[in-house]
Amino acid sequence: MFKKILIANRGEIAARVIDSARKLGVATVAVYSDADATARHVAMADEAVHIGGPRPADSYLRGDAIIAAAIATGAEAIHPGYGFLSENPDFVEAVEKAGLTFIGPSASAIRAMGLKDAAKALMEQAGVPVVPGYHGANQDPEHLAGAADTIGYPVLIKAVAGGGGKGMRLVERPQDFAAALESAQGEARTAFGNPAVLIEKYVQKPRHIEVQVFGDGASAVHLFERDCSLQRRHQKVIEEAPAPGMTEAMRAAMGQAAVRAAEAIGYKGAGTVEFIVDGSDGLRADRFWFMEMNTRLQVEHPVTEAITGIDLVEWQLRVASGEPLPAAQDAIRLSGHAFEARLYAEDVPAGFLPATGTLSHLRFPEGARADTGVRPGDTISPWYDPMIAKIITHGPTRAIALSRLRAALEGTEVAGSVTNLSFLGALARHEGFARGEVDTGLIARDLDSLTRAAAPDLSVRALAALGAAGLAEGGGAMAGFALWAPLLHTVTLDGFTAQVQVLAPGHARVRIEDEEAECRRVSGSWWVNGRPSGARIVPTPGRISVFGPGAFHFERTDPLDRRSEAAGGGLTLSPMPGLVKAVFVSPGQTVKAGDRLAVLEAMKMEHTLAAARDGTVAEVLTSPGSQVEAGVALIRLEEEQA
Ligand code: ADP
Ligand code: ADP
Ligand code: MG
Repeated sequence: MFKKILIANRGEIAARVIDSARKLGVATVAVYSDADATARHVAMADEAVHIGGPRPADSYLRGDAIIAAAIATGAEAIHPGYGFLSENPDFVEAVEKAGLTFIGPSASAIRAMGLKDAAKALMEQAGVPVVPGYHGANQDPEHLAGAADTIGYPVLIKAVAGGGGKGMRLVERPQDFAAALESAQGEARTAFGNPAVLIEKYVQKPRHIEVQVFGDGASAVHLFERDCSLQRRHQKVIEEAPAPGMTEAMRAAMGQAAVRAAEAIGYKGAGTVEFIVDGSDGLRADRFWFMEMNTRLQVEHPVTEAITGIDLVEWQLRVASGEPLPAAQDAIRLSGHAFEARLYAEDVPAGFLPATGTLSHLRFPEGARADTGVRPGDTISPWYDPMIAKIITHGPTRAIALSRLRAALEGTEVAGSVTNLSFLGALARHEGFARGEVDTGLIARDLDSLTRAAAPDLSVRALAALGAAGLAEGGGAMAGFALWAPLLHTVTLDGFTAQVQVLAPGHARVRIEDEEAECRRVSGSWWVNGRPSGARIVPTPGRISVFGPGAFHFERTDPLDRRSEAAGGGLTLSPMPGLVKAVFVSPGQTVKAGDRLAVLEAMKMEHTLAAARDGTVAEVLTSPGSQVEAGVALIRLEEEQA
């Protein structure tokens, strides 16, 4: 095994690789750009080397600087993660020329799969079914249009150098072909410096099912399939393993085809063979076709880890360091079901625009795996992929794993940036998805309902109203609210108006239109309408966030402003009708904020009335034994000196 490796990446995947390296006792070197000097992956690694400016071209894509950093720190091998240099065969050659090990396949294997047309030709030869279509060299528009006619519409135009869904156009009718071709070629030229395209039959009711493979350079095994059909614009959103409805016959056929593909190119390390599947008539062993091979670790590898119990990064390090494949095919077992949801900083209502921000609050739930590159206080910068985390759940059945995913998404708390969390939650609750009826068109068909901003749970809105009324302020960790506040508040928040009636410290009734929520602080958590709500009020600088089922964020008004205005010179009011049991102060006495002033007995409970601020008692307007109405002034403090 290596003693020390360098990770040529950032974010969650760099952190993920460091975790497994540490487990194996391998020392780690991180690299970072100016934008990432304080990033999580840098903090986690044993050493870190600065490699350049924030633009990927000035740092994470600079193979020379990365190799120099590896040599300078004495690292023996480089793990490329995904994206960046992970599928760049020139980088692999440069790494090897420098006497280092590339943790991944050979340059020739990457080249064989690098262009989709050549890869398809190779796979045909290896007896792997490929999507019917034209993947020849003739790029004459008329020739390509003729090929599309022969294939039969609808067709898909794909950039041969494509990736990330770029340079791809679906064409439904012959009259649209020429324009679509031109725009696909233009996009391909800009994105990949290569305008060449291929034409494919557009598969009906398409499902994206991919097979995880692992090779040692001679032979390969597979670790079952992942279904990545939940896509938006050809980008994966939620992935799962195994594929819903998968049959043993189809799994065997796909696994064998994937292993054949890997062995045909002498594949070494972790790779993924992506297939497109015609799901119009269930899953059938003769209805899957090779699309492409990704010669790296895939973003969604954790679902495979969850169902096999195998650490794929550990396998990568073992095989790259010269060990044999850690397990034979028949020793690899599938257990249960797993999901992964990709949590992004993005503005869903604005059309899924990437967003940025400093994550003033970030919390992942227990009971789920969260792979992340950020900590609370970290910033999602405009320079890189805006992924915040991947949330992964596992369970003995698909239904259980999915309900765990829903719970995990509900329990995920992010403040400081807009996110796609509620979109992911809506997807996780989608009925067709719950039945396993997935295809790559699902999200687009139901986009409106999936992106409609659902009102957060009543408990969340009610606590937001308390926060906005200043009632959740003060006191340690939202311990309750002080009684300087007036008894009735009307607050207007984004989307609703609420009436808040204070009943006692830590106890209020909130009316939101025709709904009513009685909120009570019970040993550190909020109960709403007699049940523990799970909702939490989280103050962050300048803002307040409420998390529960759904989240709500708003600007904080300065509680001091409100306090002086509401306290009207330090009046303590009776929060509810009751009996004054005790009075602890007399005129002229100085008190500190929080000191006990009196006790009121109401609703069979004693309520301590505390001073809202430091001051001197001016008047005591009640006495023990008095029956008082709600809102009656009980104790007045002297005006504060300016
Ligand atoms: P996958 O199938 O694993 O999602 P794709 O083939 O769609 O991968 O995309 C290529 C990979 O490059 C993805 O893992 C994606 O997250 C990653 N990637 C794309 N853009 C960036 C970026 N700016 N920074 C880091 N990684 C990126
Ligand atoms: P990329 O390199 O951008 O990942 P792929 O060839 O893997 O490109 O295709 C991306 C996505 O486009 C697939 O996951 C699938 O949803 C869709 N797709 C690709 N080929 C077809 C096809 N022939 N028919 C239907 N959908 C397809
Ligand atoms: Mg792909």
